[in-house]
Amino acid sequence: MAAALTTISLPSLQKIASGKVRDLFSLPDPNVLLFVASDRLSAFDVVMTNGIPNKGAILTLMSAFWFRLLSERIPSLRTHFISLDIPAGIPAEEASVVKNRSMQVRKLEVLKIEAIVRGYITGSAWKEYQAKGTVHGLAMPQGMQLAQKFPSAIYTPSTKADAGAHDENIHPDDAWKEIGDKGTAKKVEELALAIYNTAAAYAEERGIIIADTKFEFAKDAEGNIYLVDEVLTPDSSRFWRKDGYELGKEPDSFDKQFVRNWLIKEGLKAKEGVTLPEDICVATGERYKEAFYLLTGTKFEDAANK
Ligand code: ATP
Ligand code: MG
Repeated sequence: MAAALTTISLPSLQKIASGKVRDLFSLPDPNVLLFVASDRLSAFDVVMTNGIPNKGAILTLMSAFWFRLLSERIPSLRTHFISLDIPAGIPAEEASVVKNRSMQVRKLEVLKIEAIVRGYITGSAWKEYQAKGTVHGLAMPQGMQLAQKFPSAIYTPSTKADAGAHDENIHPDDAWKEIGDKGTAKKVEELALAIYNTAAAYAEERGIIIADTKFEFAKDAEGNIYLVDEVLTPDSSRFWRKDGYELGKEPDSFDKQFVRNWLIKEGLKAKEGVTLPEDICVATGERYKEAFYLLTGTKFEDAANK
């Protein structure tokens, strides 16, 4: 198995932030960032000690694919995506580190909200529904089954917790308290739903159900709202295989549900310092690649060699 890259070392650039999966570097243009995805994998908010080979590149190229498609289909949409080009002047050995896994993006102030959209009921939403008949406090139809499609997609934001803390589900009417103003909160909700509906329709034609997903948005100095971060990847979304989808059953997924299920089975849920066995890493990588191929129509290896 090829080695996974869990630490991104770029001595010629200044690292300004490091998330669970990505590292952000400043570039000579103060309005632009180099957004670099490592092969790290986090599940239940904990980063595994080992990574998934090529995952960073798969996520970066998939996000770029979606940024382009969404900008075409929703002309008014602003996104942080600038280009996949490796910035000029980077030493050759650093250029080979970031190839395919980096994106130049507009540097923006990210809004403190996880803009989650759900098309189908599963995960924490299914748990809440079983207990209370609601999802993020919203009343839902009676008698829903696991994996059932909602009558229409719902916006179910959560707080964006600081490192080490867990995000909390909130009622959409309370999202403005995190964001700061009601006008921006309303626009974020409308954009999140429009993006989800556009992407879900596209994916379904290609055999993938986007059960739910998380977007992040940011604002520029003029108050314009941008779609930022990664978009519609197996890390940020639940992707289900359309073939074999059955009401009442946990669907086969392309995302890290596979890893989550293994962690639960082994009693390692949310434990620090977990190393995933090689077969789980290989199988996860294969699923990410299959999702890439189904969605983009191009094999990951071909996209990466361009
Ligand atoms: P956290 O940063 O809380 O650990 P995470 O683990 O999901 O969250 P990563 O995906 O590893 O984070 O890193 C990406 C980080 O970059 C996120 O904090 C995200 O909000 C931030 N970000 C995304 N797009 C931009 C942008 N255009 N400008 C500035 N920051 C951004
Ligand atoms: Mg993230």
